[in-house]
Amino acid sequence: MSRRRKIYEGKAKVLFEGPEPGTLVQYFKDDATAFNNKKQGTITGKGVLNNRISEFLMAKLSEIGIPTHFVRRLNMREQLIKKVDIIPIEIVVRNVAAGSFSDRFGISEGSPLPRSIIEYYYKSDELNDPMIIEEHITAFGWATPQELDEILSMTLRINDFLSGLFLALGIKLVDFKLEFGRLYEGDDVRIVLADEISPDNCRLWDIKTNEKLDKDRFRRDLDRVEEAYQEVARRLGILPEGGPRDFTRLDTVQ
Ligand code: UDP
Repeated sequence: MSRRRKIYEGKAKVLFEGPEPGTLVQYFKDDATAFNNKKQGTITGKGVLNNRISEFLMAKLSEIGIPTHFVRRLNMREQLIKKVDIIPIEIVVRNVAAGSFSDRFGISEGSPLPRSIIEYYYKSDELNDPMIIEEHITAFGWATPQELDEILSMTLRINDFLSGLFLALGIKLVDFKLEFGRLYEGDDVRIVLADEISPDNCRLWDIKTNEKLDKDRFRRDLDRVEEAYQEVARRLGILPEGGPRDFTRLDTVQ
C-alpha cells in the first residue's frame, strides 16, 4: 500500500494525499460492511474489481459529458482522483423495488416502479443515514437549490445511461447510490460525480434469472459473493481471461 499521508479511512476505501495539489489517491479495500457497520467481513479481490469497475463506468460517463472526480487508475487498488468537497447527501435512484424501499412500502422485491424514483439520505453514521427531502438539504445548507438541480439532472442522465449499458450486458440496474462533490478550479466551483460506482453501491440482477450480482449476496449471507463481482467485471469486458489473478500480469506489462 501507499506510504502517502492518509486523509480519511472509510468502510471500503482509504483516501491518501495525492502526488500533486488538488489530487487524492483512492485505495479500494476488500472490506465489506452492511447494516451501518453491524455486519463486517471481507470479499476477496473486491477492491481490485471495484477499482476497475468504477474506472470503467466513470470513464464512460465522462465520455457523455458527466464531470467526475476520476483522473486515472494508478495500479491494482488505487486510482488518482480530484480532491472535492463531498456534499453530505446520498442520492439513491430506484428503478425496481428492493431493499429498504420494499420494506418501507410493503412492495415485493423485483416489482417494477411506475417511474424512476430519486431519494435523498443525509450521510451520517451516527444518525443511521436518515432519509431527507429537498427542504432539509437547502434549509441546512448542504446544497443550494441550483446545486441540487444540477445533481438531479446529472443523476437522471446517469441512470438512463447506466441502465442501458447494463441492459446490453443482460443486467438489470435495480437501484444505486451516488455521491457528488464540489470541485474548486480557480474562482469556479463545479459539481462533479464522486465516490465510486460498483456492485458495492448498485443492485445488479441478471435479466433472465434475477440472480443478484452485487453486495446483497454479502448482506444476505448468500454464496458466491466474490463470483458476483467477477461476473459484473466479466460482462463489462474488463476481467482478464485467467480471472482476477491475471490483473497482476496485465499491470506489469502496461
Ligand atoms: N446504498 C449504498 N450505501 C448506503 C445505502 C444504500 O450504496 O449507505 C445503495 C445500495 O447498495 C442500493 C441502493 O443504495 O443499491 C438502495 O439501498 P437501500 O436504501 O435499499 O438500502 P439497503 O437495503 O441496502 O439497506
